[in-house]
Amino acid sequence: MSELITAIAATARPLLVALDFDGTLAPLQDDPSASRIIPAGVDVLARVAARPDVSLALVSGRALHDLHALAEVPEGTFLIGSHGAERARVTRFGLDRDVVQLTDDEADRLASLGARAAGLVRGKDGVWVETKPTAVVVHTRLAQDEDRQEAEAAALALGAELGSGVLHGKDVVEISVLHASKGEALAALRDELGARSVLFAGDDTTDERAFEVLGDGDVTIKVGPGDSLARHRVGSADELVEALTTLV
Ligand SMILES: [Mg+2]
Repeated sequence: MSELITAIAATARPLLVALDFDGTLAPLQDDPSASRIIPAGVDVLARVAARPDVSLALVSGRALHDLHALAEVPEGTFLIGSHGAERARVTRFGLDRDVVQLTDDEADRLASLGARAAGLVRGKDGVWVETKPTAVVVHTRLAQDEDRQEAEAAALALGAELGSGVLHGKDVVEISVLHASKGEALAALRDELGARSVLFAGDDTTDERAFEVLGDGDVTIKVGPGDSLARHRVGSADELVEALTTLV
């Protein structure tokens, strides 16, 4: 932890602080709509964002509207949703969204994906399908082992057939009609902001795409167990938030 705090204190400015949401700031819940940033986190993020030399972003797999509803972040925060396919900025009047434009071919594939995914989860308890503006997601968090494995295998096969990008995270398979990743979205935002360093924290395999695009002067933090490219590790959202207080 002390090494992490030293690394955070040494970051060049302007700094972009970019954080995954579920499992990183908000402990994982069986019901995803029950996820909340830990209370200490709401306060620390507000103070981090208030610093003139720091920008704040949440980088999540959630659809943007869903992320915004749960985020509890201050005005000016960038929200990157759907693993990078959607982006917006929080303003006093609501979300200032970048428009996502699907081609006719992409829109057709999204419709086919939705119908096929609904078919493959039928009869499997605890498996459900979410439709996003650019992707279809098969959720298996509440399913028993056999149903989960079958549903995830079928979703991966469907993705290989119809998708452009397939992401296999914890109890989710996301099939997107766009090529997008947290890494590409984070690199683009960094360039636009002219950030000299980036701090990124995440807990899942999809966050590795973001760790991948960061370099020596950046701070990469894995939350929880598992292999990772990240240079630092914390055990929980509480530890992450504690480390972020270094910035305020
Ligand atoms: Mg996560």
